[in-house]
Amino acid sequence: MSGSGYSAVVDRLIAALGRLPGIGAKSAERLAHHLVRCPAEEALELAEAIGAARKQIRHCQVCFHLTEADQPVCAICSNPRRDQATVCVVEQSRDLMALEKAGTFHGVYHVLLGRLAPLSGQGPDQLTIDALVARVQSGTIRELIMATNPNLEGDGTSLLIADRLSKSGVKITRLARGLASGSSLEFANREMLADAFAGRQPF
Ligand SMILES: [Zn+2]
Repeated sequence: MSGSGYSAVVDRLIAALGRLPGIGAKSAERLAHHLVRCPAEEALELAEAIGAARKQIRHCQVCFHLTEADQPVCAICSNPRRDQATVCVVEQSRDLMALEKAGTFHGVYHVLLGRLAPLSGQGPDQLTIDALVARVQSGTIRELIMATNPNLEGDGTSLLIADRLSKSGVKITRLARGLASGSSLEFANREMLADAFAGRQPF
């Protein structure tokens, strides 16, 4: 038994679960208890699913969305029916998924893998901004639609990108503010997203 009263292996499990986003100490403890008491197959299936996802998923070489390891370019980037000249810039793959679920956008994406957050040490070098600049410089992109989340950090990220590309000649727009300020793209519904695309403004 360790200091917390659990065995070291359970402590390790609680600590690992507690590092997941949105999981506080109490939830980590509850999940750990569940995982040691539920049928072994159920717990091992979770472990195996995590292992498989980590081994078999990587980032698309073009847009940084998640893709299967044997596909260097994702299904959206390699789809000839998608408008490759219109690129929607999002923070995370889950924002992309929200837009895809709404089904109102027919261009392609660029996933930044985060947003500028100076207070938590997330600077421009941690994002895929250089790769986006290189995509723009390749000359095939006509319009960038900034779809970072409508909050201070999301806005700051878009501003930095627009600034870096101000002389590139590419058209830069942003989604209309139909999304309530401070809310998140992933919780917007189909109508809100359709309106936000239709009413997009020059940056
Ligand atoms: Zn892609």
